[in-house]
Parts: sequence; structure tokens; C-alpha cells
Amino acid sequence: MFTKRSDAYSLTPCWFTRVHEPDGFRERDDDGTLVCTCRHCRKRIRSREGKTWNLADGLDLDALAASCISSHFSVIDVEEGMVLARYKVPPNSDELVIADMWATIARKHGVEAGGDVEIRLVRHEDVLQKRH
Ligand SMILES: [Zn+2]
Repeated sequence: MFTKRSDAYSLTPCWFTRVHEPDGFRERDDDGTLVCTCRHCRKRIRSREGKTWNLADGLDLDALAASCISSHFSVIDVEEGMVLARYKVPPNSDELVIADMWATIARKHGVEAGGDVEIRLVRHEDVLQKRH
């Protein structure tokens, strides 16, 4: 017997168009980006001005450009491959301020050594070097 498996796998419209539609509650990230859930694929999406939405864990050129302006911490869920939060590092912060911020973020997100959640410091200088 041959059965048509139409229910096997259905792709969401945004998979083709890459246009994600926000659904429900929107939050504002620390760096001012809007974060929401896509009504089609239920993934975390983010937008800088509320018009175009990109996958939160995908390559967001706007966010990439913005991240070049200042150093920041990225809190990453390694298991899910997802950025949970970003924290801007004030310009001209010394190592002490950075270490202090690190500790605060680690406490807030319950980061443990060897755990699924990692904090990465993206330094402005490093980002610039990668671009050249
Ligand atoms: Zn989507």
C-alpha cells in the first residue's frame, strides 16, 4: 500500500521568504533590539526598528554592525545554539569593570563552569581586526 505522507514535514512560509512575522509579546533587549517569537516557525526573532525581523540566532547584519561599535558580552545557550542576551560594555572599561560585569551576568543567568550557558566577551578591537 502506498500512502502519501503529506504530514511528514511542513516548511513554514518564512523558511522560503525569510520574512518572519512577530507574534505576541515583544521585549526590548539591553541594546535596544526588539525580541519576539515568529508566528510561523516559533523561533526567536529580533528586529532593530520593528520592520524587518531576523532570526535571533541567525546572522543579523544590523546587529553585527551595531556590535562593531562597542564591545559587548553575549550570553549563549550552547545546547540550543542561541544568543540569550547581550550586554554592552561601556567604552573605556578597564579589566576590573569587565570582570565585575561578567560576575553579575553570570549570577543573573546562572552560568556555571561546564554548563550549557556561556558568556562570551566580544571586544570591539577584535571585531575590527576580523573585518580587516
Ligand atoms: Zn519564522
